[in-house]
This record gives sequence, C-alpha cells and structure tokens, in this order.
Amino acid sequence: MSSPTITLNDLIETHLNEIAEDAWEQHRVMRLNNGDGRWLDLGTAAVWELWTCHADHGHGLCGEPLLTAPQASTMLGKPIDDAPVQNPSIPTVEVELLDEGVRGFMQDELYHFSDVVAEFEKAQGRRS
Ligand SMILES: [Zn+2]
Repeated sequence: MSSPTITLNDLIETHLNEIAEDAWEQHRVMRLNNGDGRWLDLGTAAVWELWTCHADHGHGLCGEPLLTAPQASTMLGKPIDDAPVQNPSIPTVEVELLDEGVRGFMQDELYHFSDVVAEFEKAQGRRS
C-alpha cells in the first residue's frame, strides 16, 4: 500500500474542522476545543459549553454560550424530538453536527443560553 491510510476518525476530524470554519465565516460562532468552555447549570441539569457566539446582534459582542438542540432539551427536561425553545428572542444558528449515536453528520440548531433560561423560567411559572 503506497497511499496513506485515511481513517474514519481522520475524515470526521477534517469535516468537523470544515464545519467549524464555515460556522465562524457565516455566523461568527466558535466551536470550543475540549477543555475550553464552561459548565452551564439550569435547574438540576448541567451541560458543557461547546459553542460560543461572537456575533453582534446590535448590542456589541454577544459572548453567550450556545446549546445544541439535544443539550437544550436535556436542560429543559423535554423530549429530544421537540424544538426545545419555541420562540427564541435571538435567532438560532444552523450548523452541521456530529451525531455520536449514528456516527453521522446531522443538521442541528444552536440556541442561545439566555433563550433556554427564559424558556425554563416560563415552564417554572406554568407549574407554580
Ligand atoms: Zn449571539
């Protein structure tokens, strides 16, 4: 074998980097490396920050953590299939993400943490 062996992991890594570059070019959202980021707590749930928004929505640099739909659903205690936040005040960002379950790339949406918190507080209000 003279050609270099390209493993599936290499392909995935390459594609993940392309996605991250596109997301930055198009949306000014940054994928965080392992070890960067923050724990985000909400109620009894906590998820690790994977993306940060560096866009300017009209009030200067955003800087908010962004949650994937499954992360947001987990924090809100909702089924994964539902859209976790119905009317986000900041538009969601569409990116392709690696789905570990199927080992494939799926279109997903990133939600601003403040919108997830607002949705959580709305749900709390309904219960009390
Ligand atoms: Zn933002």
